[in-house]
Amino acid sequence: MTTAIETVRQRLASFPRVRLTHLPTPLEPMDSLSRELGGVQLHIKRDDQTGLAFGGNKARKLEFIMADVLRKRADTVVTWAGVQSNWCRQTAAAAARLGLRAVLVLLKKPTSAIVFDGNLLLDQVFGAEIRVVESEGERNFLELGGVEDLVAPVVEEERAAGHQVYLAPVGGSIPEGSMDVPLGAFGYVEAFLELFEQAQELGLPLDTVILATGSAGTQAGLLVGAKLVSPQTRVVGISVAGEAPQVSEYVRAIADRVLEELGSSERVAEDEVTVLDEYLGEGYGMMNQGVADAIRMTARQEGVLLDPVYTGKSMSGLIDLVRKGKVGAGESVVFLHTGGTPALFPYREEIVSLIEGE
Ligand SMILES: *Cc1c(COP(=O)(O)O)cnc(C)c1O
Repeated sequence: MTTAIETVRQRLASFPRVRLTHLPTPLEPMDSLSRELGGVQLHIKRDDQTGLAFGGNKARKLEFIMADVLRKRADTVVTWAGVQSNWCRQTAAAAARLGLRAVLVLLKKPTSAIVFDGNLLLDQVFGAEIRVVESEGERNFLELGGVEDLVAPVVEEERAAGHQVYLAPVGGSIPEGSMDVPLGAFGYVEAFLELFEQAQELGLPLDTVILATGSAGTQAGLLVGAKLVSPQTRVVGISVAGEAPQVSEYVRAIADRVLEELGSSERVAEDEVTVLDEYLGEGYGMMNQGVADAIRMTARQEGVLLDPVYTGKSMSGLIDLVRKGKVGAGESVVFLHTGGTPALFPYREEIVSLIEGE
């Protein structure tokens, strides 16, 4: 008899893939933080340890995406994001490993300075070509449509210079540009299977998985994995970039495309997607006291580093949900650590001023 897991694995195996990660990542208890919060059984899935260039969730995605780049015989990967992008750093590393060029269109606010620190420093070390562009106001950079005026000229320029360009969407999530299938999310369907098996080995029920959600591909992949092998598991996305209705719609749409590509007739209903935007604070990349408290508690209770943009925010959400009783006592919760720790350094000022010694 073939199990649901084997069926999904076989489907995933029909897509080309290059090895970039160290898997499986550990699933570890957070006993001290669980005690501190009272009653919740907390584990952490260490995807900050995926192994590519300081780790993070983009490594799993890039295994499928870079295989598509190679299959399409591109020699140059063009992508875009904010200046301190984890996606761009891991893309630059993957390109270096595979002998490809990476051209990064980095969106900068007119008021912020360019400092070679954190991810931007690492982009440079990996030899990526960096094109900083000024982007005013509130752009929706999760969709190509929101940044096309900034990205298209770079693609044109690369083509004119004789390069075979692969335009990869921000975060490797929404199927756009040269990526016509949501390949990034495939990495997180597989990650869910990996997590499910690890939980089974520990005899751990998988009630709730909590993660930071940005371009929605990670949550979409996990949601598909859960739907196919563990429908009782709730996947909760803490939005770090957009408002809940829009991010939920991205998650749902990507998940449906993944299901379709995997040959499943299942589809995701609107009410099956949980995205919370009440921890967004002032918006993407804006730290606040809750984030600082989450970073401090996790560091000092567990010896684990979170980041100021993604995992600090999702942990601040998790802590608040437990305190408000929305994540229940005795419930088994897995916090997905999606990486991002290189951004700790460029945020030094905010961190120092918000994390008091205690
Ligand atoms: C990109 C990123 C996320 C969000 O993943 P999406 O698939 O874009 O939603 C979460 N955490 C970190 C550290 C990231 O770099």
